Amino acid sequence: MGNGNGSGAPILIAGGGIGGLAAAYALSLKGFPVRVLEQSPEFREVGAGIQLGPNIFRALEKIGLKDAVLADAHIPPGQEMRDALTGELITAMPLGEAYFKRFGQPYGVTHRADIHAVFLNACRASNLVTLENNRKVADFEEGGDGITATLDDGERIKGRALIGCDGMWSRVREKIVGDGKPRVSGHIAYRAVLKREEVPDDLWRPDVVLWAGPRTHFVHYPLRRGELFNLVAVFHSDAYVEGWNAEADKEELFKRFQGQRPEVLRLLKLIETWRMWVLCDREPIKDWSQGHTTLLGDAAHPMLQYLAQGACQATEDAVCIAEKAAAQPDDLPAAFKAYQEQRYLRTGRVQIMARVYGEFYHARGVTAELRNQMLRARTVEDSYEGIAWLYDGG
Ligand SMILES: Cc1cc2nc3c(=O)[nH]c(=O)nc-3n(C[C@H](O)[C@H](O)[C@H](O)COP(=O)(O)OP(=O)(O)OC[C@H]3O[C@@H](n4cnc5c(N)ncnc54)[C@H](O)[C@@H]3O)c2cc1C
Repeated sequence: MGNGNGSGAPILIAGGGIGGLAAAYALSLKGFPVRVLEQSPEFREVGAGIQLGPNIFRALEKIGLKDAVLADAHIPPGQEMRDALTGELITAMPLGEAYFKRFGQPYGVTHRADIHAVFLNACRASNLVTLENNRKVADFEEGGDGITATLDDGERIKGRALIGCDGMWSRVREKIVGDGKPRVSGHIAYRAVLKREEVPDDLWRPDVVLWAGPRTHFVHYPLRRGELFNLVAVFHSDAYVEGWNAEADKEELFKRFQGQRPEVLRLLKLIETWRMWVLCDREPIKDWSQGHTTLLGDAAHPMLQYLAQGACQATEDAVCIAEKAAAQPDDLPAAFKAYQEQRYLRTGRVQIMARVYGEFYHARGVTAELRNQMLRARTVEDSYEGIAWLYDGG
């Protein structure tokens, strides 16, 4: 740790989602005072389930939060992919002992609110982190030895640096990268969470199950030590509502999933109210730091969720930025460049490969047959090695 970490103004973090809070806590562990400026009236996660690959557990271990995340998580015995039209098991990946032996970390699933609460409680317990609500960062100015952020009510806040953790529609990114709006993928996700007892026994599965259909897929898995059941239905559509968490149209869902297996349709019918996400991403970039400002998480590298990695990559970012800042506390612009240098090819690869996985899940006709043939031929070891580029990181 350098000498200058605790001196001077705090590091400002715009956005208190998973990425912002993970970064705040990781920086506080290196001795930096941090102010988190969150636009919402409270720190809270909407949404539903989130999958946690071995790489996030490796990152969480470095900041001492792995056990706290595992305490609420569910550890599925396996992952499987089924054909949504025939029910055929296309491929399965056991997530038990052999998996743990290969990757040295588990595979978990958890509620977004649960992992967000772990970061929030860790930040609350740190006397170096200040958490502030109703603080929307509207602008900022570089000032030689630091940064001044301007909030939407005109208040100006001085910081030693600014980290934009303000998500897919990042205001900070707009100013330092300026690459317009995110790319709308044309894919829509409907998400819902049921209580365990609301799911008929013959439909409840402890695994992560993905039903691959023509231009659709449907994923389900338990959450919160098995007390909840998470469902995500994804399909291609031209409907477009900017932002997240809008209420969804059930009629369109059943039209898109017509003709699929009864297990799929019975589960879809259990849901009263779905929330809808219009899935967006961006092209990878390599320059997301400028002077005393940088980006982290979805603000830096928004990705489609097909590799289930947005929060995992944001947490890896958080650990990396804290390490780089601690290595050169008196030159944060250089530390931010070093952080970006270490991260951009990895996060870019996840952005690109997530698109490829989406194509794979939603294949139709002969392409779907080919997919099934290729995946059926894999051994368990093949399936581990095929994803090792991702899960060996962190
Ligand atoms: C359908 C779906 C499924 C997913 N599944 C997975 C999964 O299984 N595994 C996984 O790892 N990831 C998954 N993700 C991705 C993951 O949810 C995101 O990548 C992750 O939450 C990004 O975190 P973040 O902190 O960067 O951004 P966000 O969570 O978007 O947080 C941004 C925060 O900044 C605040 N903010 C915005 N603008 C301002 C401003 N100007 N000033 C102050 N505050 C501001 C917001 O209010 C918010 O609190 C999924 C995403 C979707 C849509």
